[in-house]
Amino acid sequence: MAFEGLSERLQSALAKLRGKGKVSEADVKAAMREVRLALLEADVNYKVVKDFVSKVRERAVGQEVLKSLTPGQQVIKVVNEELTRLMGGTQSKLELSSKPAVIMMVGLQGAGKTTTTGKLGRYLKKQNKRPLLVAGDVYRPAAIRQLEVLGEQVDLPVFSLGDKESPVRIAEEGVAKAKEEGHDTVLVDTAGRLHIDGKMMEELKAIKDTVRPDEILLVVDAMTGQDAVNVAESFNRELGLTGVVLTKLDGDTRGGAALSVKSVTDCPVKFVGMGEKVDALEPFHPERMASRILGMGDVLTLIEKAQASVDQEKAKDLERKMRTQQFTFDDFLDQLDQVRNMGPLDEILGMMPGMGQMKGMKNLQVDEKQLTKVEAIIRSMTPKEKQEPHIINASRRKRIAAGSGTTVQDVNRLIKQFMDMKKMMKQFSSMSKGKKKKGFGK
Ligand code: GDP
Repeated sequence: MAFEGLSERLQSALAKLRGKGKVSEADVKAAMREVRLALLEADVNYKVVKDFVSKVRERAVGQEVLKSLTPGQQVIKVVNEELTRLMGGTQSKLELSSKPAVIMMVGLQGAGKTTTTGKLGRYLKKQNKRPLLVAGDVYRPAAIRQLEVLGEQVDLPVFSLGDKESPVRIAEEGVAKAKEEGHDTVLVDTAGRLHIDGKMMEELKAIKDTVRPDEILLVVDAMTGQDAVNVAESFNRELGLTGVVLTKLDGDTRGGAALSVKSVTDCPVKFVGMGEKVDALEPFHPERMASRILGMGDVLTLIEKAQASVDQEKAKDLERKMRTQQFTFDDFLDQLDQVRNMGPLDEILGMMPGMGQMKGMKNLQVDEKQLTKVEAIIRSMTPKEKQEPHIINASRRKRIAAGSGTTVQDVNRLIKQFMDMKKMMKQFSSMSKGKKKKGFGK
């Protein structure tokens, strides 16, 4: 998961302060040294790290922090605020005032530009817009076809003139077509190159001058760390960007790009790509990302995802069952379906407060490819077994394995995971009853 290393290191650096009734300047300095290392190791730009640490230190050794009743918590609050500020403070939304509003998508090959064009089209459609996608990437073989396929997937029209026309003309005619057909937004996919190159920039400038876009979004691959930041700097200098989309934040990127882009280029990150599927695009919220990194969870995004994909009645029912420990394999099966709709499991778990610090969680990884197997196993159980899993003895396990085409080990593993999960729910329900909470936060 993205930010995992950074998150762990920051949390351990700050955990030392958290419980202290008194925090000295030396304590803060020691913690800041570790914070500094954690950020550098996450590939955050060194100048950004230097500024960040000195700002936090300055604020944290201030009298109102050290003399407060909870100095450790106050320092963490300062870190959280500064992290948020580093990533742009508040969410930067798209500015789409023209009719139609034109969004120009730029980036190097392989960054995810075409995919993001499709995802963003889908996102805007969900916001009741009527986007037209324009296939202007004449340079990468198959990019045009790829956008057409994406268009079909998200049910949006795609304008194309093939790959023999100039991208400038394609963009111009695409926008004219959008006007003619009453589209309120136009997403123009442009041609990338493998590296920054003069011809590409000239072409992009010509498109910019012709279609006068409301937004020029640069798509960069977060996995490339500081390279992504350098690419953003060049594009911004040449073209004047209005925002950045960081893709592949679902991978194990160390986080450097997300933390440095805004500060180095002064361009806000507007969206992040969290997977290959068309629904894996999220608006970027600095404050939520900061909480996620500090292990305070991102309850707001979690709730939004749940609201978008989960049946509310079922969710209420489930919550009651969790609280009263009546969760069965039938519910488990139901949950699998719903969770599948929400996105990758480790990502969902990462949004839960304190989750990063729960050791048990690391072992509870459910591989999505295994879900089908899990489903087969549960479906081979009798109704009584599903309701009362403790009756599943050795001979029943053998029968279930045979019935589901799996092994007894598979069945054992699932039952163990299920029991672990129940245990965890017990922890949660006692946590929410106001016992001492794990993790930071209120
Ligand atoms: P382009 O050359 O910039 O248009 O790149 P593509 O849109 O073809 O994307 C390149 C590869 O990155 C494809 O395999 C995409 O599926 C993948 N990709 C794009 N965005 C994401 C993302 O957010 N997460 C992951 N894991 N893969 C992505």
